[in-house]
Amino acid sequence: MLDAVLTFLSQGLLNAGWGTMLIYTLVLTQLTIFTVTLYLHRCQTHRGVDLHPLISHFFRFWGWLTTGMVTKEWVAVHRKHHAKVETEEDPHSPQIFGIKKVFFDGVSLYREASMIKEDLEKYGRGTPNDWIERKLYAGHPYWGPVVMAVIDLALFGVVGMAIWAVQMIWIPFWAAGFVNGIGHYWGYRNFESADTARNLIPWGFWIGGEELHNNHHAFPSSAKFALRKWEFDIGWAAICVLRAVGLAKVLRVAPALDVRPNVHLPDAETLKAVLTHRFQAMTDFYREVIVPTLRDEAQHAGESLKAVPRRMRLALADGGRWLDSEGRERMQAVLAKRPNLSTVCDFRARLSALMEQRGADQALKGLQQWIHEAEQSGIHALQAFAQRLKGYGVASAA
Ligand SMILES: [Zn+2]
Ligand SMILES: [Zn+2]
Repeated sequence: MLDAVLTFLSQGLLNAGWGTMLIYTLVLTQLTIFTVTLYLHRCQTHRGVDLHPLISHFFRFWGWLTTGMVTKEWVAVHRKHHAKVETEEDPHSPQIFGIKKVFFDGVSLYREASMIKEDLEKYGRGTPNDWIERKLYAGHPYWGPVVMAVIDLALFGVVGMAIWAVQMIWIPFWAAGFVNGIGHYWGYRNFESADTARNLIPWGFWIGGEELHNNHHAFPSSAKFALRKWEFDIGWAAICVLRAVGLAKVLRVAPALDVRPNVHLPDAETLKAVLTHRFQAMTDFYREVIVPTLRDEAQHAGESLKAVPRRMRLALADGGRWLDSEGRERMQAVLAKRPNLSTVCDFRARLSALMEQRGADQALKGLQQWIHEAEQSGIHALQAFAQRLKGYGVASAA
């Protein structure tokens, strides 16, 4: 009897080798990542994709079994993150809490945020509330991981507990710590969005495509996160497979930018496209106007571009929004010595303010005036940008 128990504890039912256990762990954790990105995030939170009941029921079960997270809580915390991004009300902004706290203790931040009842009602609307949700998934969220522990133990014996621990740490580490923390801290930006979101790497395959966090913040309801030709989003690949077999319906993808030729006066379509693609426009402004102007002035003064430190150059992209007061003073000193750079930075600030303006007529008049003045500025890069901005149009879906 004792022998049988010891054999079971050391081998489990499968007596599997290390390779099998590794593949098992990777497949199960990948399914959990898909549950988060496809079901909780793209479907439930942002409604970018509709999943067939067969698939959503599987993901609901899988999320309960392997994470114990409750759909309504996850959705509410994440919608609030988008609504209040980088403010004191953002549940997990590294700007507010510091990167260390969000990276190492993102789970506590999530737990605290998920306990605010009013937020659950306000931001968690439209999530499942059927019998199985009330009685099991939301009613007893921790039973799922307990059942998972029993399964791992039964299949692999004591080693199964290590596999279970990896499964349990997977989402807290990759989603709460990595995407919520590093995704607002390190990486590249395609879009000058009004937050610090960054794309970690262009090939989003490990965390289901969530690595492309800057793209996601620029177009939150897009079911597709890869928005450049060289980017890859495995979550989108999975959606395409599900769509091909009738198990998913794509509701929204980010619109593409069209630039129409020969537009002399910006019209309503220009305004619509500029607003839709405002983060792209601001990125273009930085790359095509601010950087060349800075380079030109440096050349004229016979100094290197590096006379302005890299951190300061990057901060010019958003008017120094994330700098502290000392950093802002240094930025003012940089601008004071460079009249053209100062002018284009003023134009950037005015364009950014225009995009926040309410009232279409006022906004269009403001845009026409902005473009007119930019064309008269005598700064070549700014004139070329204004010329292109006039032609902005919304193309059909990408
Ligand atoms: Zn974010
Ligand atoms: Zn989101």
